Amino acid sequence: MLKTVSLIILFSNLALAHAWAGVPQVKVLIGKSLKDVVVHGIDLRQNIPAKKIYRQFEGQKTVNFSCRLNSHVQLPERDQMIASVTSPTGLVGWENKRFRGELQLVAGPKAAAEGCNLVNLISMEHYISSLLAKEMRSDWPVEALKAQAVVARSFALLKMKEQTLDLNNWHLESSEKDQVSGSFHDTTESTDRAARETQGEVLVDQNKKPVMGFFHSKCGGKTFKPEQVWSNPVAGYESVDCPFCHKHGMKNWDNTLAKSHLANLLGKTLSRYGDKPIKISPDALTFVPDTESKTDLRFYAGNQMHVLKKSHLRNIAGREIFPSINFKLISQAHGVSIKGQGFGHGVGMCQLGAFELARRGYGYREIIQHYFPNHGVRKIW
Ligand SMILES: [Zn+2]
Repeated sequence: MLKTVSLIILFSNLALAHAWAGVPQVKVLIGKSLKDVVVHGIDLRQNIPAKKIYRQFEGQKTVNFSCRLNSHVQLPERDQMIASVTSPTGLVGWENKRFRGELQLVAGPKAAAEGCNLVNLISMEHYISSLLAKEMRSDWPVEALKAQAVVARSFALLKMKEQTLDLNNWHLESSEKDQVSGSFHDTTESTDRAARETQGEVLVDQNKKPVMGFFHSKCGGKTFKPEQVWSNPVAGYESVDCPFCHKHGMKNWDNTLAKSHLANLLGKTLSRYGDKPIKISPDALTFVPDTESKTDLRFYAGNQMHVLKKSHLRNIAGREIFPSINFKLISQAHGVSIKGQGFGHGVGMCQLGAFELARRGYGYREIIQHYFPNHGVRKIW
């Protein structure tokens, strides 16, 4: 009986391996500037290519790596994998988490001062499954998870292409800088299903070429085009209405700043994104009337009019003051009131909008069609 069970497991694993043939492996940065790395797992296999060391450990083992590198050691000019660990179980542990795939220790020119980085080499579909619980919630309707899987896969694929010329030995960070992914423990039947049922599907433009997939937490009523938030346009992106997210997540927000505080933030923003340092006196500050739909902020400092992107002001001031760029500033006697809605950069798919659409019975392709009206979905592996 036991033999039959293990045979079934073996066959189902083989079927899975076959189904996922051709799936790219993505390198995800999971730990930065580490002095010591302790990994654990069953029957671990350790590879240190530079020293031609290959070891196999039996049973449950812990392997220690020291990244307290001596500054006299010749360090590589660009990031290099210096050691890797795998397990025939498919899972390797680090800290209190377990990761599918391989863990790689990466060192670069600054390793003596900063330590090593830890990278997880993982199948794209396993990566997507672990991400769904972090970027959404694993108990959300599966059609919302599937929409997220397609958009996040598109983001990861384009990042992989961008990073091939980069000095880093990874494609994306597991952080808000790129996308937050989790570990094996974060995956569930539902996240695995959402990845599997959209396997290899990415957003494409009208020439069927994959395009970058952006998403955010809550748009607050309308999404923005990439060029309204950052500098570069991305072909095909539209600003679309989203009457779906308002009942969920963060309520409309309202902050008040002293005029001197805001003058300081505006000066810093203009200095950071402009050609020369600018100091703004709070007494000389007058705002041109503002609305939420305007992505630029206009104001006078004395007789000089300035224009800046609200997203740049948000980058300088932080998300505590400006949770999104969907806000308006209103001058008051003793300060400036900021009234806004939504959370995040506002470009691409609104996650809480996708949640509501899935709750109302829409499929993932319809959700994607709403937020990306000029794009299609194509299966590329
Ligand atoms: Zn929305």
